[in-house]
Amino acid sequence: MNLDQKPLEALIHELSRLPGVGEKSAQRLTYYLLEREEEEVEKLASAILTAKREIKECPVCCSYTDQTPCSICSNSHRDHSTICVVESPRDVLAMERTGKYNGLYHVLHGTIIPDRGVLPNQLRIKELLERLKSDEIKEVILATNPTKNGDTTALYLAKTLEPIDVRVTRIAQGIPFGGDIEYYDEITVATALDHRTEFRSY
Ligand SMILES: [Zn+2]
Repeated sequence: MNLDQKPLEALIHELSRLPGVGEKSAQRLTYYLLEREEEEVEKLASAILTAKREIKECPVCCSYTDQTPCSICSNSHRDHSTICVVESPRDVLAMERTGKYNGLYHVLHGTIIPDRGVLPNQLRIKELLERLKSDEIKEVILATNPTKNGDTTALYLAKTLEPIDVRVTRIAQGIPFGGDIEYYDEITVATALDHRTEFRSY
């Protein structure tokens, strides 16, 4: 291997590991970066590092934030009696884009994946149950994706929440089975939320 090539190959390799970036795109991005001014590349590198260092999980809803608690949890104008449970912080963004939801969120950071050994205790379920100790919460909307793992997780949560005096609903299936909330337009997500129904595990 030519030693001069090492940094180039390392960058291509790192970029190609990003989601949605294949080997070809990684090469294109690498050459693009090499042609930029050093200052410009430094800005990008520092934005990545700063975000990584300063953005943490909100201690209440487990979404990503640079303040404690996050701007949604600490907003007194929001409806603090409703919690919408989603898989990822990206889903919070998707819900917020609809402009139709004014409650709080809870981010699980994944779903139960039985085949890959991802179990409920690896998700932020304990944190959700902790929040439900407060009488303030009247409704939990299960907004995991309508996929096999999303449905498994919703069922598990419905069963876990059964003994708790709280209304449990599931977003409507305006999003087809196998779909990902993150990629649907605001109207579809808002409709799924509007048409949510009572949800039980039996
Ligand atoms: Zn929060």
